[in-house]
Amino acid sequence: MAPSTESESRKLLNRLRDAMADGGAGQERLDRITHLIADSMGTEVCSIYLFRDNETLELCATEGLNAEAVHKTRMRLGEGLVGRVARNSRAINTANAPQEPGFRFMPETGEEIFSSFLGVPIQRLGQRMGVLVVQSKAARSFSEDEIYALEVVAMVLAEMTELGAIIGDSDVLTPLHRRSQTFRGGIGQEGNAEGRVFLHDPRVVVTNPIGDDPDAEMARLRDAIKQLRKSVDQMLAGEDDDDSDHLQVLETYRMFANSKGWMRRMEADIARGLSAEAAVEKEQSEAQARLRSVPDAYIRDRLEDLNDLSNRLLRILTGQGSETGAERPLDAILIARNIGPGELLEYGRSLKGIVLEQGSVGSHAAIIARAWAIPLIIHAEGITTEALNGDQILLDGDEGVVHLRPSDSVTTAFRDKLAMQAKAQERYTCIRDLPAETLCGTTIRLDMNAGLMADLPSLIGSGAAGVGLFRTELQFLIRSKVPRRGDLARLYARVMDAAQDRRVVFRTLDIGSDKVLPYMKRPDEPNPALGWRAIRVGLDKKGIMRMQLQALIRAANGRPLTVMFPFVAQFEEFSQARQMLLDEMEREKHLGHALPAKLEIGAMLETPSLAFAPRQFFELTDFISIGGNDLKQFFFAADRENEQVRRRYDTLNVSFLSLIEMIVKRCDEVGTPLSFCGEDAGRPIEALCFAAMGLRSLSMRPASVGPVKHLLRKSDLTQVREVIETAREEGQQTVRKAVLEWLKAQS
Ligand code: PEP
Ligand code: MG
Repeated sequence: MAPSTESESRKLLNRLRDAMADGGAGQERLDRITHLIADSMGTEVCSIYLFRDNETLELCATEGLNAEAVHKTRMRLGEGLVGRVARNSRAINTANAPQEPGFRFMPETGEEIFSSFLGVPIQRLGQRMGVLVVQSKAARSFSEDEIYALEVVAMVLAEMTELGAIIGDSDVLTPLHRRSQTFRGGIGQEGNAEGRVFLHDPRVVVTNPIGDDPDAEMARLRDAIKQLRKSVDQMLAGEDDDDSDHLQVLETYRMFANSKGWMRRMEADIARGLSAEAAVEKEQSEAQARLRSVPDAYIRDRLEDLNDLSNRLLRILTGQGSETGAERPLDAILIARNIGPGELLEYGRSLKGIVLEQGSVGSHAAIIARAWAIPLIIHAEGITTEALNGDQILLDGDEGVVHLRPSDSVTTAFRDKLAMQAKAQERYTCIRDLPAETLCGTTIRLDMNAGLMADLPSLIGSGAAGVGLFRTELQFLIRSKVPRRGDLARLYARVMDAAQDRRVVFRTLDIGSDKVLPYMKRPDEPNPALGWRAIRVGLDKKGIMRMQLQALIRAANGRPLTVMFPFVAQFEEFSQARQMLLDEMEREKHLGHALPAKLEIGAMLETPSLAFAPRQFFELTDFISIGGNDLKQFFFAADRENEQVRRRYDTLNVSFLSLIEMIVKRCDEVGTPLSFCGEDAGRPIEALCFAAMGLRSLSMRPASVGPVKHLLRKSDLTQVREVIETAREEGQQTVRKAVLEWLKAQS
């Protein structure tokens, strides 16, 4: 009989639980389950298909089809009706299956043509696990209640699979979270690491998907919802009334937390036999499946809110989650969907590696990972659902590959590779104290980029001449409130002490865009990368900039001081900022503080407009540094954080190299020293081409100094320049291929 009532559905779940409790291997359990579902639903066939890999489904158990076909019949994602259910994460219900688009007859299953077909996805929190199907000969359209009942069963199956209750001899029945898995992503920072997984936001595991007592489960859900609403109200009460952006987000939260539809759906799930947490997760899974296909970013964000609230609710119900107190292993490799620069700084540099499902090479979190030489892989799709705290993990940042729970042979090959790299590192150590002098006799100054006190010890070891970019905002990002002038002065003094007499270029606060200070109100901007950031904030909120300039003068305490202003887009902004610094010098003099023995005031060239600034700008600056990360994003109109567009444009594109050449020429005309401090300076081929275009000073992360110096020392810039000229004349889009071929011919 069809389970058309709530109690029928509950009965089916109870039978399912008994079938699971009866013990036996995973295969037997699956067989029992298909038998009892077919029996309860009154169908001739019930089959379970599970994913073998991300693309292939395998028939794992059946009641009614040919038993020989089990573990033999396979289909690709999207193929046939079963493949379509899996791909779209949506049920298919038809009384006339052969007429459905995509129908595929599978003779090996011995199936006669069954007219009716109902298939529902087996999925858990956005992770596709398989498809559950019932079929019957008679033309029958399954009722809403029947679809619902089968979905509930599929959800319980998903939970059981997650918990390892369905394990068998076949490959496909290997427990989840125990298989070796390989993920391919993008390279955020090269390098390799071996360690153990540490999840940024561990997920909650539901251990009791079936509820015994619907009334008790209902009461648990209501209590948890009450607690959730209270915490959302508290968050709202603690917010500053002026912070409308944040308030709006929280208001949407409150709206969801009070949503009757959400509550009603979860109550209906419980009435049909699910436990409170399984009901929350069922609604969450369905929302996630919808999320994948919604093109509208606003609606996707709202579904993300719902996702977040569901996680909070699950934590309340199970007492698990971020607050599990999982200890961070010493060899932690951090796994997260995404991470901001502030959060990453809180973890500190002891992480051995980072793997993100999202992320981008141009983000500041990636820059921090690079500065710390922590291998980073981005876009490793699905890793947050597969990895468990403590799993062994190998991160190959040179290839963009992650091996989760690797086999012994993979681990051995990986360790061999590490040993070979250690040898290459020795080669760089040998040239550490030699100049970056090219074969044609040009010496290029190599500096390092830094931002934290902890970066300074690398100065001596890397062979860098000094610090070409000190990103002062990192200090602001790791604090919970605005640092005081005295604290900053002490910190900058320590940086200068650590650098001994080497030059340190202090860049004033560059906040805004993705560098959000937790304690500063953020304007509601449609496009923060083009918004109120860096020098624009400094000139509008003079108090903070003045305080920072005073701290720098006091830190120098008579020593030479070098200050650089970020994100200057027009001459006027630089002259105003420069005047502010000169005014502070006057003020400090009046107060009787020692003035720097020498003061250099420079600008970052990060917007194409500045390359066309009047000659007076180039004359007034004591030096200029090209911020290639931003310059490139604005030159090509391609967001540095958007991997899809960022990768389209090569740094060695002839247009970009011509822009660099023009900046070199404008600086040469008035004798203003020029350097390049964007991430590209640390990539050997790019560094070589920049030097060939006339740059004589490059600033990069410490670990790049050795490889860049190594390549420069064995190259003749005149020849590289000729290769670039030829490629440019031939109308090549990028000179990369030509330069690589030339390099190959040299070795
Ligand atoms: C740049 O834009 O190249 C730069 C060095 O500044 P940041 O990466 O901090 O924006
Ligand atoms: Mg910049």
